[in-house]
Amino acid sequence: MSNKYALVLNSGSSSIKFQVLDPTADSTQEPFVSGLVERIGEKSGHIKIQTETTKMEDTRPILSHSVGLERAFGMMTLLGVGPQDLDLCAVGHRVVHGGDEFHAPELIEGDVLDRLRALIPLAPLHNPAHIDGIENAQALLPDVPHVAVFDTSFFSTMPESAANYALNFEVARKYHIRRYGFHGTSHEYVSRQVPGLLNKDPEEVKQITLHLGNGASAAAIRGGKAVDTSMGLTPLAGLVMGTRTGDIDPGVIFHLERSANMKVDDIDNLLNRKSGLKGMAGVNDFRELQTLIDEGNEDAKLAYDVYIHGLRRFIGSYMLILGGVDAITFTAGVGENAVGVRKDALANLEAFGIEIDDQRNLNEEGIEGPRLISTDDSKVKVFVVPTNEELAIARYAYEIASS
Ligand code: ADP
Repeated sequence: MSNKYALVLNSGSSSIKFQVLDPTADSTQEPFVSGLVERIGEKSGHIKIQTETTKMEDTRPILSHSVGLERAFGMMTLLGVGPQDLDLCAVGHRVVHGGDEFHAPELIEGDVLDRLRALIPLAPLHNPAHIDGIENAQALLPDVPHVAVFDTSFFSTMPESAANYALNFEVARKYHIRRYGFHGTSHEYVSRQVPGLLNKDPEEVKQITLHLGNGASAAAIRGGKAVDTSMGLTPLAGLVMGTRTGDIDPGVIFHLERSANMKVDDIDNLLNRKSGLKGMAGVNDFRELQTLIDEGNEDAKLAYDVYIHGLRRFIGSYMLILGGVDAITFTAGVGENAVGVRKDALANLEAFGIEIDDQRNLNEEGIEGPRLISTDDSKVKVFVVPTNEELAIARYAYEIASS
């Protein structure tokens, strides 16, 4: 078999997700193979491998990430699509935090793993799992180039005025505290399609991209380069999310420590996992939130209103920062599917040249690719562009491995 496919790996703390994709094909392709290894280290594990024609599952306990990956590869081999037999062109690894070290995807060789280890304090939950995933995959596939693709690197070109906090510079510099931004692979993938949709020179386009999934972030982009983003040192900042607060006065943390006697880990857990839509309405899935609202649940309605208010706050400030905007684009699970969120986020903005076309927004024809949802008169064009972070990672990995 020719080396047409790339393997894209996303190693988390208790799961590994992966896809085998053709980096030269477009986003209409179905992954050649997709896999999920979950509940690593728990009593019952779960591995699922799916190809275009068949699937296979295993529910034995999975002791470690390396056991999980090896078993998943073994199952792929039994299905006739083993990574060792596919002659892969590259393995692309998703890495959440590239800190101020990595400004673009990099071939994993030399001191790259050591530089990644040095970043663990910035992403203590994510980066150790990524490093583990890279080492395991390199051991199993030693002859294939491995490439690290960072959620942060698209934002490394942000102006210093946007990237710095007004925190004591001595402390900020010593501990590498600045706004790094996340979901960069998605914002870049989606925003690169917009100049074509506008039929404009990419250098001239000013745009806002809204990645609204379980995690959510906004980005302001000028001439293809990020100039601001809503997430910060960590993915906790910015928009309201499934389980995260988004922006909150840091004074809340001191207050909880002093008056509720909470420890820093409890507050971390509260802000990251027990807040956002889940903390306000009891559910983090947007579809369930909508069901609760339809049933008349008042907290669910308030949670929705807080979510929309946060979104409008960022859209407004980015229009000012960019000095006007040519396009606003929605992407990810909520952005691509929640008709009401798109309508409410941009309601009553005709004075700013923004007008949603209700019929286009509804998408009754079921268009799957990028689509316009603003009226023909709307000066600012509004789009829905489906994201595909795996394909973006596969393309980077292929590009770097073949350069
Ligand atoms: P992540 O990759 O961050 O886990 P996704 O981009 O897959 O997230 O988005 C997950 C979110 O998208 C969930 O809150 C889910 O409820 C929401 N979502 C998916 N489909 C729909 C839909 N048809 N209508 C509204 N929300 C949806």
